[in-house]
Amino acid sequence: MSRNGDGYRYGFGGHENDNEVKGNGNHISFGDYGYDPRIGRRWNIDPLSMEYPWQSPFLSSDNNPIFFNDPNGKNAVGTISGNTITVSATVYVYNGGKNKLDIAKTQKAINSYWGKDFKYKDEQGKSYNVKFDITVKEITFGDLLLKPLSFEEGANYVYPKDGTFNNNRSNVANNMVGNWIVGKDDRTYSHEMGHLLGLADLYIDLECYNPFSENHGETRSVSYPSATSDELMSSSYAWTTFSFKNKDKKVTQRSINAIAEFVIKNQNNGKTVINLNTLPEKGLDPPTEEDEKTMKETYPKGATGWSIK
Ligand SMILES: [Zn+2]
Repeated sequence: MSRNGDGYRYGFGGHENDNEVKGNGNHISFGDYGYDPRIGRRWNIDPLSMEYPWQSPFLSSDNNPIFFNDPNGKNAVGTISGNTITVSATVYVYNGGKNKLDIAKTQKAINSYWGKDFKYKDEQGKSYNVKFDITVKEITFGDLLLKPLSFEEGANYVYPKDGTFNNNRSNVANNMVGNWIVGKDDRTYSHEMGHLLGLADLYIDLECYNPFSENHGETRSVSYPSATSDELMSSSYAWTTFSFKNKDKKVTQRSINAIAEFVIKNQNNGKTVINLNTLPEKGLDPPTEEDEKTMKETYPKGATGWSIK
């Protein structure tokens, strides 16, 4: 697919890499929600969008979601009490479609990564405890009709998909609506949760063009050089060796630092709302400029062999 510059690659989208999946092809994915200036609105990518009862096919202001006044939603809210930073979010799973996400399992999956006691030290050396209070909740079509969700309590929507969707990739669009594949591991849901908390991806997609290579046509997501192998927002593939480096991931300190710093610096009326309006363009803790430079030089677009998609 063509990309209008590098800007939106990291934007507010972000799709989960699934390293077992090969041959991504050239389709446009829901996770790549973009804004097309020619038609003045976000182009709709997902032909299945009618399955999303809470949104119109377009997310821009000229096509407001059907049930909600606020097209951007509010994802998570960060509050500070004493030396404790709490980031609260509710993930609303719409299980009214064909595919259903096990609520208890998903909750457990997210808790296994995010339900820990984290620490943060600010520039002045003040220490904070950081915790994430995340609730996974089922929502029905009836709920949506009767009582539109309060965006103040958080509005992360998740639509369960099966493995045939989007080449088996879970994703989050605009840090707001997620397509989560049913039956994935804890890491995948926790990675997607990372996006709902504002974090950027720490990997880039490469594709192989070389008819003589067994990898011809294959797509691989490789981690940026600065990402550590245990980084939840990275890929399992190391950027140089393409080897499976580490499937055991965790929420690393740099993610916690990015979120905590954002919450502290953006307090407004006693809270920091993490959403499309408040987050920086690339999201929190994006790859460094050095990262991007290195990847551009190592895997130039259009080169034979592995190149940036
Ligand atoms: Zn991702």
